[in-house]
Amino acid sequence: MTDKVVVITGGSRGIGRATALAAAARGYRIVVGYASNKAAADEVVALIEGKNGKAIAVKCDVAEESDILELFKAADKFGSLGALVNNGGIVGKSGVRVDEMSAERIQHVMAVNVTGSILCAREAVKRMSTKHGGKGGVIVNLSSVAARLGAPNTYVDYAASKGAIDSFTVGLGYEVAGEGIRVAGIRPGLIDTEIHAAGGEPDRAHRLAHLVPMKRVGSAEEIANAIVWLISDEASYVTSAILDVSGGR
Ligand code: NAP
Repeated sequence: MTDKVVVITGGSRGIGRATALAAAARGYRIVVGYASNKAAADEVVALIEGKNGKAIAVKCDVAEESDILELFKAADKFGSLGALVNNGGIVGKSGVRVDEMSAERIQHVMAVNVTGSILCAREAVKRMSTKHGGKGGVIVNLSSVAARLGAPNTYVDYAASKGAIDSFTVGLGYEVAGEGIRVAGIRPGLIDTEIHAAGGEPDRAHRLAHLVPMKRVGSAEEIANAIVWLISDEASYVTSAILDVSGGR
């Protein structure tokens, strides 16, 4: 499937960026979605093209349905869709209890992490399902170990959004298993990316590393390797499954 298009939401930084580079190295054509950081997305495209790969950057805030439609229109022009990586995600400010959360914060986390992922999957299924004349494909959803741990006193809303992603992964996987589409989730543990700074605590992952059985944070590349395996034919019998990539956490 190596000449197929892989759409990666939030492909501009962190885990999405590492996934874009790893998938491009295996020959996939990459659609690098980004919310606002065009420079970072353009850099990912340049890195891929510098190694004779194919990539385009497309602005897509997954909280906006119209952006999602544009993302998939651009992907259609770029080639045949083989996989979607539902990676773009956000946390609210860290260290906030539920009894302090605003409705706006909760709604935004859910809009990006849950509704955005489901809408992107909808567009991918329309294109990949054999029921709609497609050739099959793979959807990988980024969950988090927070879905299991609940993230108390940190960001329970985020944890709940990832719990929803786990249910969505299982359910959608069953729904399209007979239509050539595999659906899998990944629960990263503490990964060294800028998401912790976005939550107001840049060194959060390193501060909590002692809680990880392997006693270290993970890298974006370690998550990307699992994602690239899941979208490959090597994972051909894996669906409705969620893989923890968390150093044991
Ligand atoms: P990151 O370094 O903060 O990067 C976030 C990426 O998502 C960026 O490319 C960003 O685009 C994009 N993004 C942000 N808001 C978006 C929106 N509204 N619509 C579309 N894209 C958006 O994050 P990360 O750590 O790589 O996280 C990637 C995924 O892994 C997320 O779903 C996250 O929940 C999950 N995860 C991460 C960890 C961890 O420890 N890092 C642990 C568990 C799960 P711009 O560059 O344009 O801002």
